[in-house]
Amino acid sequence: MSKELIFVVEDEEDILELIKYNLSREGYEVTGLKSGEDVLQLARIKNPDLILLDIMLPGIDGLSVCKQLKKEPKTSHIPIIMLTAKSEEIDIVTGLELGADDYISKPFSLRVLIARIRSVLRRKSQPPDNSTVPIKINDLVIHPGRHEVIISDIPVDLTRTEFQILYFLARQPGWVFSRYQIVNGIHGDDYAVTDRSIDVQIVGLRRKLGEYGKKIETVRGVGYRFKE
Ligand code: CA
Repeated sequence: MSKELIFVVEDEEDILELIKYNLSREGYEVTGLKSGEDVLQLARIKNPDLILLDIMLPGIDGLSVCKQLKKEPKTSHIPIIMLTAKSEEIDIVTGLELGADDYISKPFSLRVLIARIRSVLRRKSQPPDNSTVPIKINDLVIHPGRHEVIISDIPVDLTRTEFQILYFLARQPGWVFSRYQIVNGIHGDDYAVTDRSIDVQIVGLRRKLGEYGKKIETVRGVGYRFKE
């Protein structure tokens, strides 16, 4: 099996070298790049398996790079993990909405970085199931076809919106979604769900799910995720 190719885009030499060294040691093929221009040019040709993309870059910033990569048919499938400074929560939200797959805040631990990379690469090889196959997590069963949720053989009475939010999150465990993405993901024609009402829906959903309500995690400043 050939090595998976990772682009690491970071203008700070020390961080770039540190990441490159550690990812190579993990068995990945790594190309270090220092500008957004380089990524946009090379991603098309080299088709990397993943791009680790710093937001703060000279020239074209990471968010614009992400947007362009996701817009271009030749590169839109490439998973992107953004590197952000702690103070850039708003950028995280923007990045996720532009199609980034995950983010890591600086300073980060290499162990966490590698775990995230593995997780994103694994998800990439197993695209989310859009069929009507039920999702089972221990005693919790979500039936997309029947719009039904069962915990320990007892049906849970969810509203349609609550069900859709739960299914949307549980379909891609571990992924963080902004409120805006959730609204878009569950979009129905006959009613309007707003960003803010998502919070209210989640409160109700957690209560009805009992113990399993803890599976729905709040990611501060970003949104929600269903725990892996
Ligand atoms: Ca930087």
